[in-house]
Amino acid sequence: MDFSGWEKLSLLDFDDNITTTLFMAGCSFRCPFCQNSSLVLHPETAPKIPWSEIMDYLEKRKSVLDAVCVTGGEPTLMPDLAEKLADIKSLGYKIKLDSNGSRPEIIRVLVNQGLVDYVAMDIKNSPEKYAMTTGCNSLNMDDIMETTHYLIDNHIPHEFRTTTIAEYHNEHDFEEIGKWLNGAQRYFIQRYVDSEHCIAHGLHMVSKEKALEFKAILEKYISHVDLRGYD
Ligand code: SF4
Repeated sequence: MDFSGWEKLSLLDFDDNITTTLFMAGCSFRCPFCQNSSLVLHPETAPKIPWSEIMDYLEKRKSVLDAVCVTGGEPTLMPDLAEKLADIKSLGYKIKLDSNGSRPEIIRVLVNQGLVDYVAMDIKNSPEKYAMTTGCNSLNMDDIMETTHYLIDNHIPHEFRTTTIAEYHNEHDFEEIGKWLNGAQRYFIQRYVDSEHCIAHGLHMVSKEKALEFKAILEKYISHVDLRGYD
């Protein structure tokens, strides 16, 4: 299976690493605020980037790039993801995996095989509002819970992050999220930006003042909490 999008140079995706970011088409969720609607809703029409082209680029830029970020869609749905990550690893790159956490068994295998260096998992909302926030009628919350518990058990450096929406998130939700993710390494509260690429429209960002209130709630449970996109 091929990747469908490619941001060749990014300084924002993986801390201070100079990163190239690969996008996979297809996702098990339908988050209304998703910024990649075409990849999620129409994966069959998404571009297919030859793997040889990506590997050639990575081979030639080993002295310039530090890392590869693999994102989506939901990359753990990619049948040959482990093989592709192994190819990247053979060139010496660090790898960051973005995931919605719906396939804990895949993340466990990738970590055990040393194919990822950092996992960033979306937390869509408090458990009781999770399915609604993903745009799914039903959702296996056990899988989401399993992934979060695996990451919090410190098998690998990780972060959780939530794109906050005024219509979906309130203080009670972040209290519940804090209790759930007590002991996580890092948490980022991300600013929502409406765009033509979103699955749904008419949603609103959370103000910086409200985001700081959410941050204060999470800091009772998680040592490193920060805002992202509010500068
Ligand atoms: S935001 Fe992430 S999890 Fe949600 S639909 Fe988009 S790619 Fe899937």
